Amino acid sequence: MGRALIIGAGGVAGVVIHKCCQNSEVFQEICIASRTKSKCDKYKQDLSGKTKTVITTAKVDADNVPQLVELIKEYKPDVVINVALPYQDLHIMDACLECKVNYMDTANYEPKDTAKFEYSWQWAYRERFEKAGITALLGCGFDPGVTGVFSSYAMKHHFDEIHYIDILDCNGGDHGYPFATNFNPEINIREVSAKGSYIENGKWIETEPMEIKREYNFKEVGQKDMYLLHHEELESLAINIKGIKRIRFFMTFGQSYLTHLKCLENVGMTSIEPIIYEGKEIIPLQFLKAVLPDPASLGPRTVGKTNIGCIFQGVKDGEPKNYYLYNICDHQECYKEVGSQAISYTTGVPAMIGAMMLITGKWDKAGVYNIEEFDPDPFMEALNKWGLPWQEDLNPVLVD
Ligand code: NDP
Repeated sequence: MGRALIIGAGGVAGVVIHKCCQNSEVFQEICIASRTKSKCDKYKQDLSGKTKTVITTAKVDADNVPQLVELIKEYKPDVVINVALPYQDLHIMDACLECKVNYMDTANYEPKDTAKFEYSWQWAYRERFEKAGITALLGCGFDPGVTGVFSSYAMKHHFDEIHYIDILDCNGGDHGYPFATNFNPEINIREVSAKGSYIENGKWIETEPMEIKREYNFKEVGQKDMYLLHHEELESLAINIKGIKRIRFFMTFGQSYLTHLKCLENVGMTSIEPIIYEGKEIIPLQFLKAVLPDPASLGPRTVGKTNIGCIFQGVKDGEPKNYYLYNICDHQECYKEVGSQAISYTTGVPAMIGAMMLITGKWDKAGVYNIEEFDPDPFMEALNKWGLPWQEDLNPVLVD
């Protein structure tokens, strides 16, 4: 049916590649392109003889727009799946605009020299994408991604108004290392060491990093400490879901992770300010990334489950209503299926599904959109089919 250009060859890309190859009817051809071509070739080699999808590979620097344009014009994809890093988002969007090809990603743009992420930079492309008649689908991983689909599904089928959303991201997995991150360490540490924030009555309320802590008993995982973080989907959901009074995001962290993080922060290793080391400029956080375990290598050693979802509180037919939608995913099951742990899996599966929505035309409107702005039903159906079945609870325990 179609062809996708996948940019990036890291942990998340690995899952997208495997899932596209399981879905050869839609993804007849894929091209894997990244900075290090040998990583793309490795995926191609691993899948050779196991899929009907025709795989090609290419080397590309996604910060170089002319290089991207040349590759897109030559390969002529129906969609470009950006699973490189958030720094590349705008460059890849520029190239898609020039070539009039659909774009999608899993994380919003973040400038390399400021640890700040927000949608304004990407939303500024709306008119240009509309005029070009192409779609940019933003934030199509799990969170952001499935959390947005869960929200629009809850809105469509369960509520007249949603007043409160709590997004709970629990990773009950154990990789056996004292400290490692489950996705790109640089992006992960920038995210969790930033100030927390949530939206209440239309205003952002800022907190100190990890200032707000709650405990929650997650189904199939158990009791965990979770902390309020700033997270990108809060910004779009507060606009796109009718009636929102408050929206928060919580993520679980173990004590060992937090103690190591604090120590690394205290000695300056998480800083993104350049320093001179032996006559050469280095960025401490990038150096730290180089010494930490590669998230893609955690697959074989991670055991346990993730449980990620949204608790909604609102009104239906004049009556108050609570509703919890979540997915439970097992690290080892993911590893058996696609050779990676559940964090990459829960991001890569929705990315494949989003690309499928664009290729099949189930989601078809020109412009720049967050995922909750599309019809959630075909996506919810695809989650059940492609490895992330969801569960619902009409009487959930609420977070205070
Ligand atoms: P990795 O670090 O494992 O992989 C990133 C890949 O991008 C690498 O292959 C890297 O190439 C490539 N890359 C980086 N810079 C460039 C460039 N300039 N040109 C071409 N390729 C480049 O990251 P992950 O797979 O863990 O994460 C991928 C994305 O998924 C990130 O944006 C992350 O924020 C997002 N994410 C989203 C989640 C969600 O739920 N929405 C959850 C988890 C992650 P090389 O190896 O050669 O450096």
